[in-house]
Amino acid sequence: MARTKAADPLATYRAKRDFSKTPEPPPERKRQTGNSFVIQKHASRRTHFDFRLEHDGVLKSWAVTRGPSLDPAQKRLAVMTEDHPLEYGKFEGVIPKGEYGGGQVMIWDRGTWEPIGDPDEGLAKGDLKFRLHGDRLNGDFVLVRMKPRKEDRGRQNWLLIKKRDDYAGDGDEPTLTYDTSVKSGRTMDQIEHGESAIWSSKAQKKSPTAKRATAKLSAGTAKSGRKPAAR
Ligand code: MN
Repeated sequence: MARTKAADPLATYRAKRDFSKTPEPPPERKRQTGNSFVIQKHASRRTHFDFRLEHDGVLKSWAVTRGPSLDPAQKRLAVMTEDHPLEYGKFEGVIPKGEYGGGQVMIWDRGTWEPIGDPDEGLAKGDLKFRLHGDRLNGDFVLVRMKPRKEDRGRQNWLLIKKRDDYAGDGDEPTLTYDTSVKSGRTMDQIEHGESAIWSSKAQKKSPTAKRATAKLSAGTAKSGRKPAAR
């Protein structure tokens, strides 16, 4: 990546979006240094899972085509995407059709992460080891950068791989087990059609019915446990 981008890691994020049209948060970089992570299921042209790790005031981001696996034998393609603002980790809703990434965004998992070793070195070397403490994903993972090829056209392809530990499981595919939001309990359809589907703090405050519906859904989801996704 160009050095000039180091000055404003959110320049690409800003350039790709029209903030008068998308409900996504503005490109603000925060001073605070936390260790949150979020995985957002994103139904754009192709449904994928956006994997984001808070680092240096932004969310380092990868689009994981098939989503994370708990099976150490699975190496999941994770295409590095532009850094996102921290605020993005709270975003769930609908990006309007025709806008960049148009489609529903669901907060599929969230929590904290801890690097194993120096994360800056890991990112630079293309070998980032870390531990997740999420609602759904836990344990050790590694992101490994693949050798660049001509046909990648500058895209950075990484692989997301589960390490063998107590949380690993052969054939364990959490994206099939869980098809609701950890934030609201909603399915993708409910996010698309729900009253509070368009993300806005004002709209949510004004709409007590949406809040009640969301609370009911969360309660239902918590009880239903491991339910296979309807695909
Ligand atoms: Mn995405």
